[in-house]
Amino acid sequence: MSLINEVGGVRVGIGTDVHAFAAGRPCWVAGLHWPGQDGLAGHSDGDVAAHAACDALLSAAGLGDLGANFGTDRPEWAGAAGTTLLAETARRVRAAGFAIGNVSIQVVGVRPKLGPRREEAQRVLSEAVGAPVTVSGTTTDGLGLTGRGEGLAGIAVALLFAPGH
Ligand code: MG
Repeated sequence: MSLINEVGGVRVGIGTDVHAFAAGRPCWVAGLHWPGQDGLAGHSDGDVAAHAACDALLSAAGLGDLGANFGTDRPEWAGAAGTTLLAETARRVRAAGFAIGNVSIQVVGVRPKLGPRREEAQRVLSEAVGAPVTVSGTTTDGLGLTGRGEGLAGIAVALLFAPGH
């Protein structure tokens, strides 16, 4: 399947990630450390925002998913920061011939409250990707694992271009 389409190689990708809160883990969400909050369980730092963004970028580029690129069978990535995975993902996407347009991430859950640190998160994530990354937050009206505060979800879309096509 060609990744170049009739409108000039514009590609969109989607990514989703969910992690449960785990007492005693440092909390990393949207590339930032959140002091005084329980962290998220996972093979790496559990940053659902960064991980969803990675999956969106990889999907748009046809490079598989987070598990295939950095999964548990790749011990060198165990414990990696979300921003490290994001920077490496962006590198792989560009190496595959794409330019990154932007990434939009939505974090679903009750805590941490992203609003007051949105600009900081967007700056850190945009730096990792090398393209604009925006972050929004929403809640689920008390419903589900995100509404009960048992975990956090991230959803992202990424837009890529294949220059020269
Ligand atoms: Mg994850």
